[in-house]
Amino acid sequence: MLDKVLIANRGEIALRILRACKELGIKTVAVHSKIDRDLLHVRLADESICIGPNPSKDSYLNIPALISAAELTDTSAIHPGYGFLAENADFAEQVERSGFIFIGPKAETIRLMGDKVSAIKAMREANVPTVPGSNGPVPSDPEECMRIAREIGYPVIVKAAAGGGGRGMRVVHNEGSLLKSISVTQSEAGSYFGDSTVYMEKFLTNPRHVEVQVLADGQGNAIHLYDRDCSLQRRHQKVLEEAPAPLLDPDARAQCLQACVDACIKIGYRGAGTFEFLYEDGRFYFIEMNTRVQVEHPVTEMVTGIDIVKEQLRIASGLPLSIKQEDVKLKGHAVEARINAEDPKTFMPSPGKVNYFHAPGGMGVRVDSHLYSGYSVPPTYDSMIAKVICFADTREGALKRLEVALDETFIDGIKTNIDLQKDLVTDTNFIAGGVNIHYLEKKLGL
Ligand code: ADP
Repeated sequence: MLDKVLIANRGEIALRILRACKELGIKTVAVHSKIDRDLLHVRLADESICIGPNPSKDSYLNIPALISAAELTDTSAIHPGYGFLAENADFAEQVERSGFIFIGPKAETIRLMGDKVSAIKAMREANVPTVPGSNGPVPSDPEECMRIAREIGYPVIVKAAAGGGGRGMRVVHNEGSLLKSISVTQSEAGSYFGDSTVYMEKFLTNPRHVEVQVLADGQGNAIHLYDRDCSLQRRHQKVLEEAPAPLLDPDARAQCLQACVDACIKIGYRGAGTFEFLYEDGRFYFIEMNTRVQVEHPVTEMVTGIDIVKEQLRIASGLPLSIKQEDVKLKGHAVEARINAEDPKTFMPSPGKVNYFHAPGGMGVRVDSHLYSGYSVPPTYDSMIAKVICFADTREGALKRLEVALDETFIDGIKTNIDLQKDLVTDTNFIAGGVNIHYLEKKLGL
């Protein structure tokens, strides 16, 4: 087992990783920016180091500072969490070159999956269902572009190969606006991501977002931990997630889960990962793979009883997967509400001092949060401050439990989206199950 892990992240996920390390007897190093010295996990870690000023680029994205911190503390491995450098292949490479273990896939896998064109190609070769599309970058010949779009059928979506965070994509409804949209997306992609490659695929009008959690040891073993539904989104940001995904076509689901496992083995995947799909009319369409632990991983942990972060640590230690597919048993239902420090009307971040925080509790209630009374939420980083996760035998039971838990949650001093979450868990359409990715924005009148 690893001896000492440096946690290259902050907030709730840093605390989540710290807890898993402690349970496994692994020593921990917390790194933090200046303003983050009072973070809960910094106080709880065996060692802590300030890696720079508040802006992420000077601290949590500062690769030399992170590697120096690992050297100074004689760390054996680095856990990137999610966000920041978690999907940065250069970081993974530099970590390994400096003699540390990167807790995640090999740099080449991150690179393969970070480029959507190469990711889709790899998935097609592994028989994972993809969205009908250009199967590669759009060609430079305008006639050829128009032919491909006609073949796919309008509407199509033009997407940046290097895209992320919902940026660098454009929907095209007819041939008249195709070429213009391609060139605008190309130049946007160039300036956002430093790579102007774009591709085209069918734009699905009313899909759900369904994703598959996998674990692989890079030694030829891979398993899936079933699926999650994360269709409730605002501006491509997930708001509320659940596991398992309700009301899926059983055959399509079984095939998709198996294809994800096969793909992991085929690409030599190592670590925890998520295959993201759009799901429409009983069919799955791969959109991208996340090569890291995700915010919503707890819902899967609750319904499978498997600690995903501990598994990441075991895999990084070089141990083969300890769980076989037939040992993964789905039990009950779990729902996660992301609590953000934000204005409930404008959605603008609402940082500041939390005078008082009371977390909910009781059977089947889990709170992943770095908040405590007296903590000041800095304006500098992501506004998510807590995840309230509820588990019960049935979906109905889990939603009711989340409603009660949200009622009990009390955060004084800053504005939060708790009321929106209460509204969602009591929404009759959501309760019925299977709403699509546009549902939340429509409900909000956006
Ligand atoms: P990013 O990496 O920027 O998050 P994704 O490829 O995951 O980009 O797409 C983000 C979101 O954009 C999806 O969750 C979905 O809402 C929308 N989207 C992407 N591709 C399509 C498509 N082919 N049809 C419909 N919506 C799409």
